[in-house]
Amino acid sequence: MGNLQQRIQKIEQDIQATCDRVGRNRSEITVVAVTKEVSTARTSAVLEENIRHLGENRPEGLLGKQETIQSGAIWHFIGNVQSRKVKEIINRIDYLHSVDRMSLVKEIHKRSNQVVDCFIQVNVSGESSKSGVTPAELDSFIEDVAAYDKIRIIGLMTMAPFTKDMDEIRSVFRSLRELRDGISAKKLPHAPCTQLSMGMSNDFIIAIEEGATHVRIGTALVGAESEGDV
Ligand SMILES: *Cc1c(COP(=O)(O)O)cnc(C)c1O
Repeated sequence: MGNLQQRIQKIEQDIQATCDRVGRNRSEITVVAVTKEVSTARTSAVLEENIRHLGENRPEGLLGKQETIQSGAIWHFIGNVQSRKVKEIINRIDYLHSVDRMSLVKEIHKRSNQVVDCFIQVNVSGESSKSGVTPAELDSFIEDVAAYDKIRIIGLMTMAPFTKDMDEIRSVFRSLRELRDGISAKKLPHAPCTQLSMGMSNDFIIAIEEGATHVRIGTALVGAESEGDV
């Protein structure tokens, strides 16, 4: 897979080419480097390449890296959060991509010192293995969040289904965009909902074609330390 600089260059080329093809501006898209499977040293190297948005999915990974990386990074928490772990992370992150239930909303409200920029995770594909609010529940869920003013809903997030069928993946991303458009049109003060967190190493190009504003890229960017990538 080459080295870190080469991987970043390839991703940047792919993103720019996709933007050119579909008439989007590169500046609309934030690359979140998912560092959950690599060392702190590798994570620091990503930062040195000027990729400042870092994604972690476990409290231990976040806190461990923050011991060494104390400035320069913008932290995204992208994984399921157990309610009892909220207090450990909520005042240490810039974005939370995985709000998936009301009990979590309540715990964030209780434990956070400030308003938290959140994405609501939506289970578009309906796979039982995936967490997330269902599309049918989404409107009432978002209405209910209004009572908890430490949560600002800046967008929606989804995980693509486990399939190689790119049309199926595209249709999930498109559905998320349509849900986002419906909510942002309501102009709810607590839910501007302009952002779309979707797309990973294997499908970020499709996600950008379908309107992603945040792509969460792990292995294609940071490599796989276990396989000897540098
Ligand atoms: C691991 C992970 C990613 C990145 O996956 P890759 O396939 O390595 O790009 C993105 N989003 C979430 C929620 C993840 O857990």
